[in-house]
Amino acid sequence: MPDQNYDIVIIGGGIVGLATALQFGRAFPQLRLALVEKEDRVAGHQSGHNSGVIHSGIYYKPGSLKAKLCVEGAAAMIAFCREHAIPVEICGKLIVATTDEEIPRLHGLLERGQANGIPGLRLLDKSQAHEIEPHCGGLAWLQVPSTGITDYAAVCQKYAELIVSQGGAVNTKTEVTSIARRNGEIIVETSRGSIGTKYLINCAGLHSDRVSRMAGEKTEVTIVPFRGEYYDLVAERECLVRGLIYPVPDLRFPFLGVHFTRRISGGVDAGPNAVLAFKREGYRRTDFSLHDTAITLAYSGFWQMAAKYWRSGAGEFYRSFHKPAFVRALQTLLPEITSSDLVADGSGVRATAVARDGSLVDDFQFVCSHNMLHVWNVVSPAATASLPIGREIVRMARAGFDLT
Ligand SMILES: Cc1cc2nc3c(=O)[nH]c(=O)nc-3n(C[C@H](O)[C@H](O)[C@H](O)COP(=O)(O)OP(=O)(O)OC[C@H]3O[C@@H](n4cnc5c(N)ncnc54)[C@H](O)[C@@H]3O)c2cc1C
Repeated sequence: MPDQNYDIVIIGGGIVGLATALQFGRAFPQLRLALVEKEDRVAGHQSGHNSGVIHSGIYYKPGSLKAKLCVEGAAAMIAFCREHAIPVEICGKLIVATTDEEIPRLHGLLERGQANGIPGLRLLDKSQAHEIEPHCGGLAWLQVPSTGITDYAAVCQKYAELIVSQGGAVNTKTEVTSIARRNGEIIVETSRGSIGTKYLINCAGLHSDRVSRMAGEKTEVTIVPFRGEYYDLVAERECLVRGLIYPVPDLRFPFLGVHFTRRISGGVDAGPNAVLAFKREGYRRTDFSLHDTAITLAYSGFWQMAAKYWRSGAGEFYRSFHKPAFVRALQTLLPEITSSDLVADGSGVRATAVARDGSLVDDFQFVCSHNMLHVWNVVSPAATASLPIGREIVRMARAGFDLT
């Protein structure tokens, strides 16, 4: 007999697992629900180590789940923060083309953003750009006035409180160690005893592929961790940045390209970059896990990815170890910035889902089978989009689990 019984268990107390639990509790108040999280708090990993941006949805392919859920999610996130007195600010973003070659791509972004229904997008000339960001450089500028900032760890904390007030359980310090099926029931073994459940949702972030394999699911992706390192602008130079200043992204990798982000709690970040991490939850350059590294290196998809994108990867590594190169990348956006204006700050690790052919999974990806649902790819803007992602997971589970 399991130590505890629930109707539904959600693995992972990040923003996606929490939003899913919140939406499940709203849709099915009669179900006994528990969320289990291995750390001693919610938002211990990606959801508490990110840039805090409420993305508008300009980068994503029209019609994709990312585009749809980001635009909807941004509005829902702003409303949620306002309703629950979580700090939020719509500070806007300026995207800066710094070479002639980037100007048509900037125009392409405008079209993409308009196709995604983002309001207020405007191409600016130099004097208009300088009214918004007086110190920015560049050749052409696109204003995205609807982009905002918040504190996603505080959002997660509020989601957790609401789940409990709806009758759900949020069990921290509870690591899932194995998953089995017995007599039509799913048995989840944890560091705090066993749990019997009818339905299981895997929102384990950097470990979602591992948890899928524990559950007997044949995974089509492997998570490769990429650390994003930040610098902080020293207090006396924060005045150089009013809101968010971003480069024109390569749309295959919208997370690449260092940028400036004002934090809701004060201060300005520069970064993050994206360097291969040798530990899934490795926040320092020296962090190393033989097990995690062996999984990455043994995966053929990793080598295929490396063969395709080694040039971008090498550039990111170089900028990580060579501050002057990092500063040069930032100077294209903000020419006045110097090395002494920047001090090393924290980092986050992205759960990047890599397919067997070495491609990075682009859209959000979920797999539903036999009363289990696995969340395989919820990279940025998943914090922004968390409320509609949770609702979408409930919709898929309703159909896949035959819930009424
Ligand atoms: C550097 C960086 C910057 C970003 N910036 C932004 C941004 O500005 N805006 C935005 O919208 N998005 C941003 N993102 C993306 C966003 O933060 C993530 O997409 C989102 O947080 C993913 O949430 P999650 O719940 O899937 O994962 P996580 O937050 O990583 O949560 C997964 C949880 O599962 C738990 N877990 C794992 N294995 C087990 C187990 N066996 N048992 C129990 N628990 C387990 C982990 O401890 C963890 O708490 C950024 C991400 C990074 C890394």
